[in-house]
Amino acid sequence: MMNVYYEKDADLAVLKGRKIAVIGYGSQGHAHAHNLHDSGFDVVVGLRPGGASWSKAEAGGLPVLETGAAVKQAQVVMILVPDELQADLYARDIAPNLDAGDYVAFAHGFNIHYGQIVPAPGINVFMAAPKGPGHLVRHEYRRDMGVPTLIAIYQDSSGDTRDIALAYACGIGGGRAGIIETSFREETETDLFGEQAVLCGGVTELIRAGFETLVDAGYAPEMAYFECLHELKLIVDLIYEGGIANMRYSISNTAQFGDLTRGPRVIGEASREAMAEILGEIQDGSFAREWILENRANRPVFNALTREGEEHEIEQVGQRLRGMMSWLQQDKLVDRTKN
Ligand code: NAD
Ligand code: MG
Repeated sequence: MMNVYYEKDADLAVLKGRKIAVIGYGSQGHAHAHNLHDSGFDVVVGLRPGGASWSKAEAGGLPVLETGAAVKQAQVVMILVPDELQADLYARDIAPNLDAGDYVAFAHGFNIHYGQIVPAPGINVFMAAPKGPGHLVRHEYRRDMGVPTLIAIYQDSSGDTRDIALAYACGIGGGRAGIIETSFREETETDLFGEQAVLCGGVTELIRAGFETLVDAGYAPEMAYFECLHELKLIVDLIYEGGIANMRYSISNTAQFGDLTRGPRVIGEASREAMAEILGEIQDGSFAREWILENRANRPVFNALTREGEEHEIEQVGQRLRGMMSWLQQDKLVDRTKN
Protein backbone atom coordinates (compact mmCIF):
# COMPACT_ATOMS: atom_id res chain seq x y z
CA MET A 1 0.00 0.00 0.00
CA MET A 2 1.38 3.41 -0.95
CA ASN A 3 1.81 6.14 1.67
CA VAL A 4 -0.70 8.98 1.44
CA TYR A 5 0.10 12.38 2.94
CA TYR A 6 -2.24 15.20 3.91
CA GLU A 7 -1.88 18.83 4.98
CA LYS A 8 -1.09 17.80 8.56
CA ASP A 9 2.02 15.91 7.32
CA ALA A 10 3.56 18.96 5.64
CA ASP A 11 5.42 21.99 6.99
CA LEU A 12 4.50 24.93 4.76
CA ALA A 13 7.11 27.13 6.45
CA VAL A 14 9.95 25.46 4.51
CA LEU A 15 8.57 27.04 1.34
CA LYS A 16 7.35 30.35 2.77
CA GLY A 17 10.68 32.18 2.70
CA ARG A 18 11.34 31.24 -0.91
CA LYS A 19 10.17 32.73 -4.19
CA ILE A 20 8.43 30.36 -6.58
CA ALA A 21 8.60 30.94 -10.34
CA VAL A 22 5.80 29.22 -12.24
CA ILE A 23 6.89 29.05 -15.87
CA GLY A 24 3.89 28.97 -18.21
CA TYR A 25 0.30 30.09 -17.65
CA GLY A 26 -1.66 27.39 -19.43
CA SER A 27 -3.87 24.66 -18.00
CA GLN A 28 -1.53 23.69 -15.14
CA GLY A 29 0.38 26.99 -14.93
CA HIS A 30 -2.59 29.21 -14.10
CA ALA A 31 -3.83 26.72 -11.51
CA HIS A 32 -0.47 26.31 -9.72
CA ALA A 33 0.28 30.03 -9.76
CA HIS A 34 -3.09 31.14 -8.36
CA ASN A 35 -3.40 28.31 -5.84
CA LEU A 36 0.11 28.95 -4.47
CA HIS A 37 -0.56 32.68 -4.35
CA ASP A 38 -3.86 32.15 -2.51
CA SER A 39 -2.02 29.79 -0.12
CA GLY A 40 0.22 32.70 0.86
CA PHE A 41 3.34 31.86 -1.14
CA ASP A 42 5.50 34.35 -3.02
CA VAL A 43 4.80 33.62 -6.71
CA VAL A 44 6.05 35.11 -9.95
CA VAL A 45 4.89 33.88 -13.36
CA GLY A 46 7.58 33.43 -16.05
CA LEU A 47 6.54 33.83 -19.69
CA ARG A 48 7.59 34.85 -23.17
CA PRO A 49 7.03 38.57 -23.71
CA GLY A 50 4.13 39.27 -26.04
CA GLY A 51 2.56 35.81 -25.72
CA ALA A 52 -1.22 35.56 -25.19
CA SER A 53 -0.72 34.24 -21.65
CA TRP A 54 1.09 37.38 -20.47
CA SER A 55 -1.99 39.59 -20.41
CA LYS A 56 -4.15 36.78 -18.96
CA ALA A 57 -1.72 36.34 -16.05
CA GLU A 58 -1.53 40.09 -15.41
CA ALA A 59 -5.31 40.40 -15.61
CA GLY A 60 -5.42 37.55 -13.07
CA GLY A 61 -3.46 39.79 -10.68
CA LEU A 62 -0.10 38.00 -10.63
CA PRO A 63 3.36 39.48 -11.17
CA VAL A 64 4.78 38.44 -14.56
CA LEU A 65 8.38 38.51 -15.79
CA GLU A 66 10.28 37.07 -18.72
CA THR A 67 11.24 33.48 -17.93
CA GLY A 68 14.95 34.16 -17.36
CA ALA A 69 14.28 37.04 -14.97
CA ALA A 70 11.66 35.06 -13.06
CA VAL A 71 14.05 32.12 -12.63
CA LYS A 72 16.84 34.42 -11.47
CA GLN A 73 14.66 35.82 -8.65
CA ALA A 74 13.29 32.46 -7.58
CA GLN A 75 14.63 29.52 -5.60
CA VAL A 76 11.88 27.14 -6.73
CA VAL A 77 11.09 26.88 -10.47
CA MET A 78 8.05 24.90 -11.63
CA ILE A 79 8.19 24.22 -15.38
CA LEU A 80 4.67 24.20 -16.86
CA VAL A 81 5.18 24.86 -20.54
CA PRO A 82 4.26 22.05 -22.95
CA ASP A 83 6.54 19.00 -22.56
CA GLU A 84 7.88 19.28 -26.11
CA LEU A 85 9.15 22.85 -25.50
CA GLN A 86 10.74 22.29 -22.09
CA ALA A 87 14.19 21.06 -23.14
CA ASP A 88 14.95 24.11 -25.32
CA LEU A 89 13.50 26.51 -22.74
CA TYR A 90 15.53 24.86 -19.97
CA ALA A 91 18.79 25.17 -21.89
CA ARG A 92 18.17 28.75 -23.01
CA ASP A 93 16.33 30.57 -20.22
CA ILE A 94 16.26 28.37 -17.11
CA ALA A 95 19.62 26.61 -16.55
CA PRO A 96 21.74 29.78 -16.96
CA ASN A 97 19.68 31.53 -14.26
CA LEU A 98 19.71 28.77 -11.65
CA ASP A 99 21.94 28.78 -8.58
CA ALA A 100 23.25 25.67 -6.84
CA GLY A 101 20.68 24.64 -4.23
CA ASP A 102 17.69 25.86 -6.28
CA TYR A 103 14.75 23.51 -6.85
CA VAL A 104 13.44 22.64 -10.31
CA ALA A 105 10.00 21.05 -10.45
CA PHE A 106 7.80 19.32 -13.00
CA ALA A 107 4.17 18.21 -13.26
CA HIS A 108 5.10 15.32 -15.55
CA GLY A 109 8.33 13.33 -15.70
CA PHE A 110 8.77 13.06 -19.48
CA ASN A 111 11.82 15.30 -19.95
CA ILE A 112 13.71 14.04 -16.91
CA HIS A 113 12.90 10.35 -17.41
CA TYR A 114 13.83 10.34 -21.10
CA GLY A 115 16.95 12.45 -20.56
CA GLN A 116 15.86 15.56 -22.47
CA ILE A 117 16.64 17.75 -19.46
CA VAL A 118 19.69 16.88 -17.35
CA PRO A 119 19.91 19.32 -14.41
CA ALA A 120 23.34 20.05 -12.95
CA PRO A 121 24.21 17.94 -9.87
CA GLY A 122 23.76 20.88 -7.45
CA ILE A 123 20.13 21.42 -8.51
CA ASN A 124 17.30 19.74 -6.59
CA VAL A 125 14.65 18.13 -8.78
CA PHE A 126 11.13 17.11 -7.75
CA MET A 127 7.69 16.51 -9.16
CA ALA A 128 4.31 17.78 -8.02
CA ALA A 129 1.75 16.39 -10.44
CA PRO A 130 -1.96 16.80 -9.80
CA LYS A 131 -3.89 13.82 -11.17
CA GLY A 132 -6.34 16.04 -13.00
CA PRO A 133 -6.57 18.81 -15.60
CA GLY A 134 -5.37 22.24 -14.49
CA HIS A 135 -8.81 23.81 -14.66
CA LEU A 136 -10.08 21.25 -12.16
CA VAL A 137 -7.04 21.89 -9.92
CA ARG A 138 -8.08 25.54 -9.73
CA HIS A 139 -11.81 24.83 -9.44
CA GLU A 140 -11.39 22.39 -6.55
CA TYR A 141 -9.01 24.69 -4.70
CA ARG A 142 -11.52 27.53 -4.84
CA ARG A 143 -14.11 25.41 -3.10
CA ASP A 144 -11.57 24.41 -0.40
CA MET A 145 -10.97 21.01 -1.93
CA GLY A 146 -8.08 19.59 -3.93
CA VAL A 147 -7.04 17.10 -6.56
CA PRO A 148 -4.95 14.06 -5.55
CA THR A 149 -1.32 14.89 -6.29
CA LEU A 150 1.80 12.83 -6.94
CA ILE A 151 5.20 13.85 -5.67
CA ALA A 152 8.57 12.35 -6.60
CA ILE A 153 12.18 13.22 -5.86
CA TYR A 154 14.80 12.86 -8.59
CA GLN A 155 17.75 14.83 -7.20
CA ASP A 156 18.22 16.01 -3.65
CA SER A 157 21.49 17.87 -3.20
CA SER A 158 20.09 19.99 -0.34
CA GLY A 159 18.62 17.09 1.64
CA ASP A 160 15.18 18.70 2.11
CA THR A 161 13.65 18.32 -1.36
CA ARG A 162 10.93 16.01 -0.06
CA ASP A 163 9.81 18.63 2.48
CA ILE A 164 9.73 21.26 -0.27
CA ALA A 165 7.77 18.95 -2.58
CA LEU A 166 5.21 18.17 0.14
CA ALA A 167 4.76 21.86 0.96
CA TYR A 168 4.39 22.69 -2.73
CA ALA A 169 1.82 19.94 -3.26
CA CYS A 170 -0.16 21.32 -0.31
CA GLY A 171 0.14 24.85 -1.69
CA ILE A 172 -1.73 23.81 -4.83
CA GLY A 173 -4.41 22.03 -2.79
CA GLY A 174 -3.18 18.44 -3.06
CA GLY A 175 -2.98 18.01 0.72
CA ARG A 176 -6.77 18.28 0.98
CA ALA A 177 -7.24 15.26 -1.31
CA GLY A 178 -4.13 13.17 -0.67
CA ILE A 179 -0.50 13.27 -1.78
CA ILE A 180 1.10 10.06 -3.01
CA GLU A 181 4.84 9.55 -3.41
CA THR A 182 6.05 7.84 -6.58
CA SER A 183 9.13 7.94 -8.86
CA PHE A 184 9.72 9.88 -12.09
CA ARG A 185 9.83 6.58 -13.98
CA GLU A 186 6.57 5.25 -12.58
CA GLU A 187 4.67 8.52 -13.04
CA THR A 188 5.92 9.00 -16.59
CA GLU A 189 5.24 5.47 -17.82
CA THR A 190 1.84 5.03 -16.17
CA ASP A 191 0.70 8.52 -17.18
CA LEU A 192 1.60 7.93 -20.84
CA PHE A 193 0.02 4.49 -20.81
CA GLY A 194 -3.20 5.70 -19.21
CA GLU A 195 -3.73 8.55 -21.66
CA GLN A 196 -2.84 6.42 -24.70
CA ALA A 197 -4.61 3.15 -23.95
CA VAL A 198 -7.56 4.15 -21.78
CA LEU A 199 -8.36 7.78 -20.95
CA CYS A 200 -7.78 9.56 -24.25
CA GLY A 201 -6.82 7.14 -27.02
CA GLY A 202 -8.88 4.18 -25.87
CA VAL A 203 -12.01 6.15 -25.00
CA THR A 204 -12.10 8.36 -28.10
CA GLU A 205 -11.72 5.38 -30.44
CA LEU A 206 -14.36 3.43 -28.51
CA ILE A 207 -16.79 6.36 -28.85
CA ARG A 208 -16.10 6.82 -32.55
CA ALA A 209 -16.30 3.12 -33.33
CA GLY A 210 -19.66 2.84 -31.57
CA PHE A 211 -21.00 5.98 -33.26
CA GLU A 212 -19.88 4.83 -36.71
CA THR A 213 -21.33 1.36 -36.22
CA LEU A 214 -24.79 2.80 -35.47
CA VAL A 215 -24.69 5.48 -38.20
CA ASP A 216 -23.41 3.01 -40.83
CA ALA A 217 -26.31 0.72 -39.91
CA GLY A 218 -28.75 3.54 -40.72
CA TYR A 219 -29.58 4.92 -37.26
CA ALA A 220 -29.89 8.69 -36.68
CA PRO A 221 -26.56 10.34 -35.87
CA GLU A 222 -28.28 12.21 -33.01
CA MET A 223 -29.27 8.89 -31.42
CA ALA A 224 -25.76 7.56 -31.96
CA TYR A 225 -24.32 10.68 -30.30
CA PHE A 226 -26.50 10.33 -27.21
CA GLU A 227 -25.86 6.62 -26.82
CA CYS A 228 -22.12 6.53 -27.52
CA LEU A 229 -20.89 9.92 -26.26
CA HIS A 230 -23.32 11.95 -24.17
CA GLU A 231 -24.29 9.18 -21.78
CA LEU A 232 -20.67 8.25 -21.19
CA LYS A 233 -20.41 10.98 -18.56
CA LEU A 234 -23.36 9.62 -16.59
CA ILE A 235 -21.76 6.17 -16.51
CA VAL A 236 -18.30 7.51 -15.68
CA ASP A 237 -19.75 9.59 -12.81
CA LEU A 238 -21.11 6.39 -11.26
CA ILE A 239 -17.80 4.57 -11.73
CA TYR A 240 -15.89 7.55 -10.32
CA GLU A 241 -18.12 7.69 -7.27
CA GLY A 242 -18.03 4.02 -6.30
CA GLY A 243 -16.17 1.89 -8.79
CA ILE A 244 -17.47 -0.44 -11.48
CA ALA A 245 -19.66 -2.33 -8.98
CA ASN A 246 -21.42 0.94 -8.04
CA MET A 247 -22.20 1.62 -11.69
CA ARG A 248 -23.52 -1.93 -12.19
CA TYR A 249 -25.74 -1.54 -9.12
CA SER A 250 -27.33 1.51 -10.71
CA ILE A 251 -27.91 0.35 -14.30
CA SER A 252 -30.72 -2.03 -15.33
CA ASN A 253 -30.24 -5.77 -15.14
CA THR A 254 -30.49 -5.89 -18.93
CA ALA A 255 -27.68 -3.34 -19.26
CA GLN A 256 -25.61 -5.23 -16.72
CA PHE A 257 -26.01 -8.56 -18.52
CA GLY A 258 -24.96 -6.91 -21.81
CA ASP A 259 -22.01 -5.25 -20.06
CA LEU A 260 -20.79 -8.51 -18.51
CA THR A 261 -21.12 -10.67 -21.60
CA ARG A 262 -20.37 -8.23 -24.48
CA GLY A 263 -17.70 -5.95 -23.00
CA PRO A 264 -14.96 -8.60 -23.15
CA ARG A 265 -15.79 -9.17 -26.83
CA VAL A 266 -15.20 -5.49 -27.64
CA ILE A 267 -12.00 -5.30 -25.61
CA GLY A 268 -10.71 -8.79 -26.39
CA GLU A 269 -7.34 -10.47 -26.83
CA ALA A 270 -6.34 -8.17 -29.72
CA SER A 271 -6.88 -5.04 -27.60
CA ARG A 272 -4.95 -6.50 -24.69
CA GLU A 273 -2.06 -7.38 -27.00
CA ALA A 274 -2.12 -3.83 -28.40
CA MET A 275 -2.01 -2.44 -24.84
CA ALA A 276 1.03 -4.57 -23.99
CA GLU A 277 2.76 -3.42 -27.16
CA ILE A 278 1.96 0.23 -26.42
CA LEU A 279 3.34 -0.15 -22.89
CA GLY A 280 6.51 -1.68 -24.33
CA GLU A 281 7.02 1.32 -26.61
CA ILE A 282 6.68 3.63 -23.59
CA GLN A 283 9.15 1.59 -21.53
CA ASP A 284 11.81 1.28 -24.24
CA GLY A 285 11.66 4.98 -25.19
CA SER A 286 10.38 4.51 -28.73
CA PHE A 287 7.18 6.50 -28.08
CA ALA A 288 9.27 9.33 -26.59
CA ARG A 289 11.60 9.31 -29.61
CA GLU A 290 8.64 9.35 -32.03
CA TRP A 291 7.04 12.35 -30.25
CA ILE A 292 10.33 14.27 -30.01
CA LEU A 293 11.10 13.72 -33.73
CA GLU A 294 7.48 14.55 -34.66
CA ASN A 295 8.02 17.97 -33.04
CA ARG A 296 11.34 18.47 -34.82
CA ALA A 297 9.48 17.86 -38.09
CA ASN A 298 6.78 20.44 -37.16
CA ARG A 299 4.15 17.81 -36.33
CA PRO A 300 2.90 16.48 -39.69
CA VAL A 301 1.16 13.45 -38.15
CA PHE A 302 -0.22 15.36 -35.16
CA ASN A 303 -1.72 18.05 -37.41
CA ALA A 304 -3.19 15.69 -40.00
CA LEU A 305 -4.85 13.42 -37.44
CA THR A 306 -6.12 16.34 -35.33
CA ARG A 307 -7.76 17.89 -38.41
CA GLU A 308 -9.29 14.58 -39.42
CA GLY A 309 -10.75 14.22 -35.92
CA GLU A 310 -12.22 17.72 -35.95
CA GLU A 311 -13.94 17.04 -39.26
CA HIS A 312 -15.60 13.83 -38.06
CA GLU A 313 -19.40 13.82 -38.23
CA ILE A 314 -19.64 13.27 -34.47
CA GLU A 315 -18.25 16.79 -33.88
CA GLN A 316 -20.91 18.48 -36.04
CA VAL A 317 -23.75 16.49 -34.51
CA GLY A 318 -22.38 17.17 -31.05
CA GLN A 319 -22.12 20.90 -31.56
CA ARG A 320 -25.76 21.04 -32.65
CA LEU A 321 -27.01 18.93 -29.75
CA ARG A 322 -24.92 20.66 -27.09
CA GLY A 323 -26.36 23.98 -28.29
CA MET A 324 -29.74 22.67 -27.13
CA MET A 325 -28.45 21.80 -23.65
CA SER A 326 -28.37 25.23 -22.01
CA TRP A 327 -26.98 23.95 -18.70
CA LEU A 328 -23.73 22.98 -20.43
CA GLN A 329 -23.00 26.66 -21.06
CA GLN A 330 -23.09 27.61 -17.35
CA ASP A 331 -20.17 27.41 -14.92
CA LYS A 332 -17.71 26.12 -17.48
CA LEU A 333 -14.32 25.02 -16.13
CA VAL A 334 -12.59 26.29 -19.27
CA ASP A 335 -12.94 29.97 -20.27
CA ARG A 336 -10.41 30.48 -23.06
CA THR A 337 -10.36 34.27 -22.54
CA LYS A 338 -9.15 33.89 -18.93
CA ASN A 339 -7.43 30.56 -18.37
P1 NAD B 1 -0.46 24.33 -21.74
O1 NAD B 1 -0.26 24.05 -23.18
O2 NAD B 1 -1.85 24.43 -21.22
O3 NAD B 1 0.26 25.69 -21.33
C1 NAD B 1 1.47 26.11 -21.86
C2 NAD B 1 1.89 27.45 -21.32
O4 NAD B 1 3.26 27.63 -21.61
C3 NAD B 1 1.16 28.64 -21.93
O5 NAD B 1 0.94 29.60 -20.93
C4 NAD B 1 2.18 29.19 -22.91
O6 NAD B 1 2.01 30.56 -23.11
C5 NAD B 1 3.45 28.90 -22.15
N1 NAD B 1 4.64 28.88 -23.02
C6 NAD B 1 4.77 28.26 -24.22
N2 NAD B 1 6.00 28.44 -24.68
C7 NAD B 1 6.68 29.18 -23.77
C8 NAD B 1 8.00 29.69 -23.68
N3 NAD B 1 8.89 29.49 -24.64
N4 NAD B 1 8.33 30.42 -22.57
C9 NAD B 1 7.45 30.62 -21.57
N5 NAD B 1 6.18 30.16 -21.61
C10 NAD B 1 5.80 29.45 -22.69
O7 NAD B 1 0.39 23.23 -20.91
P2 NAD B 1 -0.15 22.21 -19.81
O8 NAD B 1 -1.12 21.25 -20.42
O9 NAD B 1 -0.56 22.97 -18.60
O10 NAD B 1 1.17 21.35 -19.49
C11 NAD B 1 2.21 21.84 -18.68
C12 NAD B 1 2.87 20.67 -17.95
O11 NAD B 1 1.94 20.08 -17.06
C13 NAD B 1 3.33 19.55 -18.87
O12 NAD B 1 4.50 19.00 -18.33
C14 NAD B 1 2.20 18.54 -18.77
O13 NAD B 1 2.60 17.22 -19.05
C15 NAD B 1 1.83 18.70 -17.31
N6 NAD B 1 0.48 18.25 -16.95
C16 NAD B 1 -0.58 18.81 -17.59
C17 NAD B 1 -1.87 18.46 -17.22
C18 NAD B 1 -3.05 19.19 -17.81
O14 NAD B 1 -4.03 19.30 -17.11
N7 NAD B 1 -3.02 19.72 -19.01
C19 NAD B 1 -2.07 17.50 -16.21
C20 NAD B 1 -0.96 16.96 -15.54
C21 NAD B 1 0.32 17.36 -15.93
MG1 MG C 1 17.42 31.52 -8.85
